[in-house]
Amino acid sequence: MIIPISSIPEAGLSIELTIPVHQLHIKEIGGNHNLHCKLHLTHQGEDILLRGEIALQATICCVRCLEQIPLHVSVPQFVHLVDKTTSDSVNLIPLLREEIFLVLPLYAKCQLDNKGNCPYTGTNWQQLSETAPRAPLHDPWSELDKLKKATN
Ligand SMILES: [Zn+2]
Repeated sequence: MIIPISSIPEAGLSIELTIPVHQLHIKEIGGNHNLHCKLHLTHQGEDILLRGEIALQATICCVRCLEQIPLHVSVPQFVHLVDKTTSDSVNLIPLLREEIFLVLPLYAKCQLDNKGNCPYTGTNWQQLSETAPRAPLHDPWSELDKLKKATN
């Protein structure tokens, strides 16, 4: 989606777009969904000012279940400047892609119900077996301390 700067009137240009998620080329997200954006582009001295809102519905991998779970993110106040002196067009996809990267959750995780069940896979995460690996309850460095004492 490239908008020539010469096509932006002095009064500004309002656009509404629906972009398929796969066009953003973000490997972390998937699904047959769209990114919706409402943007207003105006001339601002040497720049083009983009303002508007972005909303994305997609799926993302749950770090607990490793299944795709629904993802909804939005940027209610998207703002970006494009330098008119170095570019004769506004390429929207890289700008939107960058913005979506900033709002993606670092660790997307499903919300367990009150019994500890995943709503998507039904896996119960409260009753892990006794032999399942767990995070250490105490200082993890204490295991190294034992090793040091054993060699002395
Ligand atoms: Zn889950």
